[in-house]
Amino acid sequence: MKTLRDLFLEELKDMYDAEHRIIKALPKLAEAATCEKLKAAFLGHLQETKGHVTKIEKIFKSFGETAEAKKCQATVGLLKEGDEIAAENKGEPTLNAALISAGQKVEHYEIASYGCLHEWAGQLGNKEAGELLELILDEEKAANTKLTELARTNSNEEALLGGDKDESDNEASDKQPADFIPGVRPLQSSWKEKAPLI
Ligand code: FE
Ligand code: FE
Ligand code: ZN
Repeated sequence: MKTLRDLFLEELKDMYDAEHRIIKALPKLAEAATCEKLKAAFLGHLQETKGHVTKIEKIFKSFGETAEAKKCQATVGLLKEGDEIAAENKGEPTLNAALISAGQKVEHYEIASYGCLHEWAGQLGNKEAGELLELILDEEKAANTKLTELARTNSNEEALLGGDKDESDNEASDKQPADFIPGVRPLQSSWKEKAPLI
């Protein structure tokens, strides 16, 4: 009979594999991005992701086990689709918005997985694992929020306006670019304030 501990360790092996794949993918996403802030966000999360690997090794240890990887099919698929999306939008004003979307799909998968692992660690009474998983979970959520912010301040508008937007315009969404077309811009400030970031 499988136990919750078995299930926990299987899921942890899956995420150990996922994080290694994400470490290989993030530099490629940064390379593909043409928005400097997005490049920096991907590279910043690369450093955090390397820390996730170390934390997972500590979690295995806290259960008296050595770290082991089990192929994460979901991450393989998400990253493969990310490659396709990057290729299909290369040289297009939609590129950065597309890369953000690909990145957020990975973050959401990680958030779901670590959310479950965190709950299970609590049920299994492993406080150290619970704390480490909470640290990882917080960084995944922050990475996702950062991508939402970059989409809203930069990339979605760049995609909408066809890339004629001046880079210096990045921060201020109330400044109207020369080619601004009244009536087609969907981002109203009230919507921006109310919508959740995840
Ligand atoms: Fe991660
Ligand atoms: Fe997986
Ligand atoms: Zn992540």
